[in-house]
Amino acid sequence: MFDKSTWIQLPRNVLMGHGVVDELADAVDELYLTGRPFLVTSPTPNDIAGDAVRTQFDDIASVTIETASFESVERVVDAAEAADAGYLIALGGGKVIDTAKMASDSLDCGFVSVPTAASHDGIVSGRSSIPEGDTRHSVAADPPLAVVADTTILAEAPWELTTAGCADIISNYTAVKDWQLAHRLKNAEYSEYAGALSQMTAEMLVDNAESIKPNLEESAWVVVKALLSSGVAMSIADSSRPASGAEHLFSHQLDRLVPGRALHGHQVGVGSIVIEYLHSGEKGEWRDIRNALDEVGAPTTAAELGIDDETVLEALTTAHTIRDRYTILGDGVSEEAAREAATFTGVI
Ligand SMILES: [Zn+2]
Repeated sequence: MFDKSTWIQLPRNVLMGHGVVDELADAVDELYLTGRPFLVTSPTPNDIAGDAVRTQFDDIASVTIETASFESVERVVDAAEAADAGYLIALGGGKVIDTAKMASDSLDCGFVSVPTAASHDGIVSGRSSIPEGDTRHSVAADPPLAVVADTTILAEAPWELTTAGCADIISNYTAVKDWQLAHRLKNAEYSEYAGALSQMTAEMLVDNAESIKPNLEESAWVVVKALLSSGVAMSIADSSRPASGAEHLFSHQLDRLVPGRALHGHQVGVGSIVIEYLHSGEKGEWRDIRNALDEVGAPTTAAELGIDDETVLEALTTAHTIRDRYTILGDGVSEEAAREAATFTGVI
């Protein structure tokens, strides 16, 4: 008997390009949302584009948050309820968008994503994670109803945020390998389409790596398009699997051991080098991953992350314990094996 079913949720409107922030109200209008718009932002994005957003809506309320935390999510929820908000507009980097996403999930209302940095694929996906004590709390919420990614704004974001976004996409290579492995060994559900899309997204970025340079709108365009396509792959799979494998477990473990030390994308990029080595050995494609990261200016070593070698090894040997997600790490990598892989690849 045929009993498969799937529910794919995607953003309805996606606007990308020069000056599109001025078309935000039109994009929102198209969504037939009701109620009061409520802007969630943080100080710098507010300085950059807060007014450009506010002038487009008559009755907009707003809140400014400083960090991504549970207190911030609660503040947004309380302020949105007090303002009788109909939907949220998240203007900012990953932290603002993650916070607004989680708040909209708890308010049971929609949100629109207006990223000011192309720093990770969470700007277009329904996944978000917020630090809670020494762990992270992750939710699988709905993706944004619309994404308005203005390349004028994105090109002016601090460069390391863009290189982190690039590294997050490059890490799709190992994420897809881990997903296929889990499919073969543990019968995890695999989507050929989502897997191929995720892999192709990483390939396109790597093929364009030499054109990704600071302060260029074209570069912001290439990166945000890739982040969007990575988010679509996750929506199709209804899972973060296409863009999150062992390299993400490694990064989550670093978040626990040395919170806030390095950017998410940079951590998963370095993780991807070692994980690729574990997948395919000395002659594998880990050099291609390292060279691609190097070309866009993302870190390729523990030292460049500002993290000491022993912490990197601890994250590698304990990453498998984080969640029930089968990867090349299996039931754990021994310290000797982790040291060998990290040393051979030049990560430590
Ligand atoms: Zn990521």
